[in-house]
Amino acid sequence: MAIFGNLSLRLTESLANLRTKGKLTPADVDGTVREIRRALLEADVALPVVKEFTAHIRERALSDDVNKALNPAQQVVQIVNEELIGILGGEVRRINFAKQPPTVIMLAGLQGAGKTTLAGKLAKKLLEDKHQPMLVACDLQRPNAVNQLQIVGAQAGAHVFAPEPGNGIGDPVRVAKDAIKYATDKHYDVVIIDTAGRLGVDAELMKQAANIRKATNPDEVLFVIDAMIGQDAVATAKAFQEGVDFTGVVLSKLDGDARGGAALSVAKTTGRPIMFASTGERLDEFEVFHPDRMASRILD
Ligand code: GDP
Repeated sequence: MAIFGNLSLRLTESLANLRTKGKLTPADVDGTVREIRRALLEADVALPVVKEFTAHIRERALSDDVNKALNPAQQVVQIVNEELIGILGGEVRRINFAKQPPTVIMLAGLQGAGKTTLAGKLAKKLLEDKHQPMLVACDLQRPNAVNQLQIVGAQAGAHVFAPEPGNGIGDPVRVAKDAIKYATDKHYDVVIIDTAGRLGVDAELMKQAANIRKATNPDEVLFVIDAMIGQDAVATAKAFQEGVDFTGVVLSKLDGDARGGAALSVAKTTGRPIMFASTGERLDEFEVFHPDRMASRILD
């Protein structure tokens, strides 16, 4: 997969010169850091993130605390690798299940980000892990959204809770609350709430999502972001962090030719871990996000 393809290539190229040198000088480090900076900017990583990242690399590469067993190029690679893992969240972050079921997982993000698809992917994975997930249609903004959730629910083999016409349709907060009661009664142990999004950040819908969050007190709020979003990633992620205070990030469409800057920018500016990656339209094109694997892929 060509995730971070450009970035990876650039870093490797910029480090190639160092491989032959005996000792790391400030000039070597500055030259390499300049290359890393350019590569990150070209990968659409936000400027403040790039600045902080490269300052850190420079400081660490010039400190006495480098691993002397490695040659200078390997030292820089190790530092860049560690810093990338750090920004991408360090450890794998798994779903935080409620002690008392049902666990409530709310999905938020812009329209088209991949929320509905993710609902199906999560349900499929949870069923494989012997959970009893239920999907909830709280995107009542678009006429077709409920239908779409029903389609992915059927594909995953999961029950979909959708508002009956005439019975509270139009009020997603009430649907969400009813759904949790229903799940408790019927012993579904994970409730996945799909919410509405617009193409741009929208105050009305953000308030609606915030209200759903308040009414359902979710164990996880997952912010789904299209990896292709580029420089808009930071502003969008910040707006959703303010609006719904998400607990984790899902990067979608990593199968496209996204240059990956969104991952670094979002993780760094929000301090929230990336938990899953979506890599295609099919429900099995989905994986737990591993910061260390992603970092090695960047550097390989
Ligand atoms: P929502 O508006 O946030 O619910 O987004 P949808 O789940 O409806 O997804 C919007 C479009 O993106 C649909 O055509 C999906 O099939 C597609 N999509 C979702 N996730 C992925 C992914 O990881 N890769 C690709 N290539 N397409 C995806």
